[in-house]
Amino acid sequence: MSKLAILGGEKLNTRSIAENVKWPIVNRAMEEGVLAVLRDGNMSGTDITKQFEKEFAKWQGSKYALAHSSGTASLQAAMFGVGLGHGDELICPSTTYWASGLPAISLGASVVFADIDPVTLCLDPADFEKRITPRTKAVVVVHYSSYPADMDEIMKIARKHNIKVIEDVSHAQGALYKGKMVGTIGDVGAMSLMSGKSFAIGEGGILVTDNQEIYERAVLWGHYERASDITLPGLVEYKGLPCGGYKYRMHQLSSVVGLEQLKKYDSECAIIDKAMKYFWDGLKDLPLGNHIPAEADSFKGGWYACKGLYDPNAFEGLSLKYFIDAIIAEGGQGFAAGCAAPLHACSLFQSMDIYNEGKPANIANRPADAEPINEIGSLPVAETINEYVFAIPWFKHFDRLLIDEQIAVVRKVCENYKDLLASDPKEKVRGKLFQTARKN
Ligand SMILES: *Cc1c(COP(=O)(O)O)cnc(C)c1O
Repeated sequence: MSKLAILGGEKLNTRSIAENVKWPIVNRAMEEGVLAVLRDGNMSGTDITKQFEKEFAKWQGSKYALAHSSGTASLQAAMFGVGLGHGDELICPSTTYWASGLPAISLGASVVFADIDPVTLCLDPADFEKRITPRTKAVVVVHYSSYPADMDEIMKIARKHNIKVIEDVSHAQGALYKGKMVGTIGDVGAMSLMSGKSFAIGEGGILVTDNQEIYERAVLWGHYERASDITLPGLVEYKGLPCGGYKYRMHQLSSVVGLEQLKKYDSECAIIDKAMKYFWDGLKDLPLGNHIPAEADSFKGGWYACKGLYDPNAFEGLSLKYFIDAIIAEGGQGFAAGCAAPLHACSLFQSMDIYNEGKPANIANRPADAEPINEIGSLPVAETINEYVFAIPWFKHFDRLLIDEQIAVVRKVCENYKDLLASDPKEKVRGKLFQTARKN
């Protein structure tokens, strides 16, 4: 037994993983593309963006793709696209980035948060169904941390209740759900392409759909310069001005990078997949969950924000925070306790009167006698998940020795966890706010 570094023992010798995890991988074609756009003064044009959309739609397997200035913009356009409006409800998992749901409020709709599944970390289909009301117009499904959500169940429920499905693909470009590209299963996909994400091109987002009406509504919402794309009766008479009052055009320094990224993304994802699976293979005898989909034909595209699942019971109640602190003390890099704070508990959704309506904006357009939503205590998994999930290093290259070093760090802490029990400060990952008992 070797003494753990956090207890004063010798730290395992690990090298910096900084070069390995750097993202995106910038090649000469990207650099030259960006310079050419700059030198042509073509940053605000649409010619390169349209080419990017064409190639992206082909890669994604969608009829239409519409580039946006951000993922947030593409999500709002998707919400307008499916007809979300005043008094409608949008169901959204509580564990996600705020932009999955928040744009609905500016459409006059209410965001109704639903719980996640503690293993997939994606929308729990049963909880989704429980929160449906006659006002539910749409659901946002997030393929969280690149894990393809349970789309068969979700689509079945959504179709039964006539609810539109928006897939938020910001974490999962190129991921497969039972062989199908995520983003093409629901009515519309929307996603961030910012440089931190899997498909990383700078600030930007993209909307994909096979549905002409959703596409044309999204164009009308924030793309005033594309009047000729709008043809449907009910829309065509309004073309020329963006009806949302927004301008959501993508910057061509982003789209030119996107064109080049498309050429190499699949091969980069294959290497990431190999590296990440090698990492988990090296830990497979330890009681940690790997957050890899079980079906052989499902695939974690890009492995953005990759996670591990922690069960304190397998470590005699050792707190996740201390477990991760011990890993970091040993030379672990890219590890962090927790994932996202539960959105439904944020005061913006609870109480903020954003539009001077004299009531909280998120419920301003619900009937006064409607059942309460987003109550603290009502989403037990989202409220406690931070004690059970941790971030892991996101390797971009298959460097066996480097990955072995990070495996060794986790292994050392797991094998010596008993030494930590006496000094565990039992700190919560996100403070004391959410200590409700976890379901099951
Ligand atoms: C990043 C992100 C967004 C928002 O995208 P931006 O490009 O930052 O506007 C939306 N949803 C999820 C799940 C995200 O991670």
